[in-house]
Amino acid sequence: MSTNGTPRTPQIAIIGAGMSGLCMAAKLKLAGIESFTIYEKADSLGGTWRDNNYPGLTCDVPSRFYQFRFAPNPDWSQWFSAGDEIWRYFDKVADDLDIRRHVELGREVTAAHFQNGRWELDFADGRSASADFLVSACGILRIPRYPEIDGLDSFTGAVFHSARWDHDVPLDGKRIAVVGTGSTGAQIVSGLAGVAGEVKLFQRSAQWILPMFNPRVSSLTRWLHRRFPALDRVAYDSLRAGAHRVAPALTAPGPKRSAIQAICRLHLRTVRDPALRAALTPDYQPMCKRLVASSAFYKAIQRDDVALVTDGIERIEPAGIVTTDGTLHEVDVIALATGFDAHAFMRPMQLTGNDGLTLTEAWKDGPRAYLTVALPGFPNFFTLMGPHSPVGNYSLTEIAETQADHVLAWIERWRAGQLDTVAPTEDATTRFNADMRAAMPGTVWSTGCSSWYLGADGVPELWPWTPDRHRAMLSQPRLEDYEIHSTERVATPAA
Ligand code: NAP
Repeated sequence: MSTNGTPRTPQIAIIGAGMSGLCMAAKLKLAGIESFTIYEKADSLGGTWRDNNYPGLTCDVPSRFYQFRFAPNPDWSQWFSAGDEIWRYFDKVADDLDIRRHVELGREVTAAHFQNGRWELDFADGRSASADFLVSACGILRIPRYPEIDGLDSFTGAVFHSARWDHDVPLDGKRIAVVGTGSTGAQIVSGLAGVAGEVKLFQRSAQWILPMFNPRVSSLTRWLHRRFPALDRVAYDSLRAGAHRVAPALTAPGPKRSAIQAICRLHLRTVRDPALRAALTPDYQPMCKRLVASSAFYKAIQRDDVALVTDGIERIEPAGIVTTDGTLHEVDVIALATGFDAHAFMRPMQLTGNDGLTLTEAWKDGPRAYLTVALPGFPNFFTLMGPHSPVGNYSLTEIAETQADHVLAWIERWRAGQLDTVAPTEDATTRFNADMRAAMPGTVWSTGCSSWYLGADGVPELWPWTPDRHRAMLSQPRLEDYEIHSTERVATPAA
């Protein structure tokens, strides 16, 4: 509170105008806080939904659960919506809540350092800014991972990563190689089957696939959702409750895990050819890697114009891909569905906290945070979708809301004059991370497979407990776990 009793006005810098950055902005707006700026490196909003626009892109989380609770959309066209529809949704949220005027596009933050109680930001264009709070909303799967394959540069056709799809390249009737069998590769193959002349999927590891029926939403249902907005809340809550019933399957062995694994195994039996089915059978438990959800993939891979290649990639030549058996697979286009650097978080941005502590030093043993959102030694800094956030197959919009609510609560305490700076203690962060590591052996991600879920030490960088526990811990933070400084303490911080 300022000396005249009115709330102080914090300057807040948000990095990234993707789903989580927009969520943070919306929460500030809804709390009546206008003094924030979103710095976005690209030339439009939308983050992952802007960058990913490959054929077949569909979010495998139900749309009525993959939306902000405060911004229901009655008009979803399908249960699981296509990428461009989701991108338009986030764009509309930005317009409806008048967020766009807070966004500065083409502003890449290269460095941020904490100095004299404030964050000083440097941009790639040489400009600078400062803020009381810094919120990183850079996303998790942002930096494409390109495979190291000999001769990749020599290919004379078109080659691009799935998150950098070149829409100028014609696909009709073309021979297309898809490298990688994660959620992205499976969706691309399903999207291209019957469009391209021939699709070859280069599989290094087989994937378990959960069937995902995707009915259209009737115009009557959409009308009902427009007419009775409470229906949307009911749909959201029941989908959320369903997700919460399923979530323990990931974190502890038991009948739920067995049931989902049985569904995946039954689904695989829909592949009729025993040799193809054997080639598509993973050598690890379902859900160990991030589960792929699709009812289209097994149908697509059984088509005559789609082929599965399981021999390893030896090299790439100007005309195509040479596999370890010596075969040259001549293709016109290579789509690299080879995933992302899931451990970069806000890097390569240089972050420097108290006493010159750099993020590189703080994370020399791997990314870690307190309660997924805050870092010891980095006051008034928060990250959304940070290390160990509950990602997986759960709704990230819900996680972003939980984290943004937590950040907002600290900003509200600052506004009320209860603190000037806040950061978690080193002890609390060490304890929290030790507890998480202790819980990992029971998780399905630790059952023996390689995946982007695992850190350099082989330990999953996911949330090993229920989503409810995440919300509970973030909504009731233990104040003794924080270093809180205030020059003129007016009131005691309230949890
Ligand atoms: P990914 O799950 O990391 O899969 C990458 C694939 O590329 C794997 O099959 C990997 O094989 C393969 N690969 C990597 N390097 C290779 C190389 N040098 N040679 C041959 N194969 C190589 O990446 P993603 O499919 O892009 O998905 C990433 C995440 O994005 C998903 O797990 C999900 O969280 C999210 N996503 C979500 C949706 C959705 O609908 N919600 C859709 C797409 C993506 P190995 O398995 O052998 O390493």
